[in-house]
Amino acid sequence: MLLLTVVAPAALADWVSDERAMMGTSVSVHLWSDDAQAGQRALEEVFQEAARIDRLMSTYKDESEISKINREAAHGPVPTGDELFGLVQRSIDISVLTRGAFDITFDSVGQHYDFRARQRPDTATVEAERTHINYQLVKLDRAAGSIEFLEEGVRINLGGIAKGYVVERGIDILRHRGIEHAIVTAGGDSRLLGDRRGRPWMVGIRDPREDGEVAISVPLVDEAISTSGDYERYFEEDGVRYHHIIQPSTGKPASGIRSATVFGPDAVITDALSTSVFVMGVKRGLTLIGNLPDYESIVIDATGKVYYSAGLMPPGEGLAD
Ligand code: ADP
Ligand code: MG
Repeated sequence: MLLLTVVAPAALADWVSDERAMMGTSVSVHLWSDDAQAGQRALEEVFQEAARIDRLMSTYKDESEISKINREAAHGPVPTGDELFGLVQRSIDISVLTRGAFDITFDSVGQHYDFRARQRPDTATVEAERTHINYQLVKLDRAAGSIEFLEEGVRINLGGIAKGYVVERGIDILRHRGIEHAIVTAGGDSRLLGDRRGRPWMVGIRDPREDGEVAISVPLVDEAISTSGDYERYFEEDGVRYHHIIQPSTGKPASGIRSATVFGPDAVITDALSTSVFVMGVKRGLTLIGNLPDYESIVIDATGKVYYSAGLMPPGEGLAD
């Protein structure tokens, strides 16, 4: 007897990728799935998650939770959801670790920049607003789940850490859906899941002065990597480069470094640390990373010279003074 079997069309294993403009930057997802349709659904979920986090944490959206805090927290404690509270807490922990190089209250000055419109605060504004840059003016009450600012004029902005959170959450979603090989990127922050099917991912660090060129490639598996650069958002005026990473102690764009890359196990931390190393400069920045066993760094200074953290260097070679 002839046996007829109906075979469902085989689900096709394939890479699934997409890139979308969001959060003032570009977010991309690249994953391997045994079933391309399921892969596509997982990818959509990651983009939805990025949009959700942006609605919560964007200072450009008046209705976001963070905008409400910026409007009201100087007048008394504002009840805050666990997720935002947690990320503000982690930001402040990094402020302590970096002795204030990373400080989400940079925004009292930062809010006066509009890089697309080539707008920057004048000296009087910088001098007046920089007095409000101090993470110690942000009071977190864990029991009450509230945030309060200790003076008028304080503002917070998670631009130096939220993209790391987005890629970390994105990879969590993919992992729970059984995906084993993926890369999620938001601006300068990427998180890798597994390897590239038997080979490491090759992650390129951009040449800070040659658009589209890669300065250094690093092979990585299952890690997060973040780069902060003075080329992401900037304009030049009279030979001065005004960019988006603020030195909290002066209220001015940090100088001395063109790009700072940090890699390690957690994208929230690599994001905040790449911004921190940029602010701290080559020597202090690499010393900080040298004290964190799981994290490494590659820095390109204002002359184009490349520096590596101790863990990346052959034994015997150290950081020159
Ligand atoms: P990107 O991936 O956008 O280049 P970075 O991780 O380099 O982001 O962080 C730059 C962003 O961090 C700025 O656009 C701003 O929102 C925020 N920022 C600027 N200066 C500081 C600072 N000293 N501490 C914390 N966040 C900062
Ligand atoms: Mg960062």
